Amino acid sequence: VTVLEASSQAGGQVRLATQNPRRKELIGIIDWRLAELDRLGVEIRYDTWAEKDDVLALSPDVVVVATGGLPQNPPLAAGDNLVTSSWDIMAGSVKPAEHVLLYDDNGGHQGMGAAELIANSGAKLELVSPERFFAPEMGGMNHVPYMRAFQEKGVTITINTRLLSVRREGNQLVAELGSDFADGWRGERRVDQVVVEHGTLPLDDLYLALKPLSRNGGAIDYERLVKGGDIFPARNPQGGFVLFRIGDAVASRNIHAAVYDGIRFGLRI
Ligand SMILES: Cc1cc2nc3c(=O)[nH]c(=O)nc-3n(C[C@H](O)[C@H](O)[C@H](O)COP(=O)(O)OP(=O)(O)OC[C@H]3O[C@@H](n4cnc5c(N)ncnc54)[C@H](O)[C@@H]3O)c2cc1C
Repeated sequence: VTVLEASSQAGGQVRLATQNPRRKELIGIIDWRLAELDRLGVEIRYDTWAEKDDVLALSPDVVVVATGGLPQNPPLAAGDNLVTSSWDIMAGSVKPAEHVLLYDDNGGHQGMGAAELIANSGAKLELVSPERFFAPEMGGMNHVPYMRAFQEKGVTITINTRLLSVRREGNQLVAELGSDFADGWRGERRVDQVVVEHGTLPLDDLYLALKPLSRNGGAIDYERLVKGGDIFPARNPQGGFVLFRIGDAVASRNIHAAVYDGIRFGLRI
């Protein structure tokens, strides 16, 4: 097995999650896997951005695309270029400003991690969610430490509210807010920074480039996945290898989905 990794370190988004000091133990998920790969003699080529020809040069029998995704903005009527991604806050590439509005319609740890970092930086933060409580994708146990940080740092929490657009006025940003419940309702916030979390868009270029060259057309037979048999349909007998994708390269999901995709499909090779 050869792993091609674009970054200089393994771990992808999990490494980003550990930028919240309170959650740094998540790195165990990566460290254990790296130790296992080392034990099993798997070669990892770091700083290697894999394109179609790099993969073909290895003459593989099986190609697993686990390229994850990149953050995307929520649908905005205007102001796409004015908002900051939660990833930039987590990575430390953009510092929190003084007055921040964070809009999270993804509902997981991504937005909450960024919110906690912003609150701990001393910024005045308003957390806005279209849901009836914030971060519904997170379990109740995880609600507690975030809520503690938010209350201790005086974070304002606004639910049932959507971010519609962002515009610049002077040296500030104006966030226009709307409601799913009352059509004409509008609100406005004047802040220094608008941070958004809307999940990821699959980074699927490599998968799509390899798909026509693969034996199974990049497909999984889900009936057979459940009932038994070869889960890789013979769509293109001339194809040189079996291809499948896992994790956020399929859709914006979570660690569990990425791990389970890998196990379920990997066991059937
Ligand atoms: C801040 C934050 C907190 C999170 N917290 C949680 C949590 O608590 N629980 C949870 O379940 N989920 C959490 N998630 C989501 C979870 O981390 C992702 O769903 C998961 O990491 C997806 O795994 P993946 O392997 O599919 O993709 P990624 O983690 O995105 O990894 C993709 C990897 O592929 C590499 N790559 C991409 N393109 C190429 C290429 N062409 N060539 C070579 N390498 C390439 C990248 O460098 C990266 O290492 C969090 C995400 C973030 C951002």
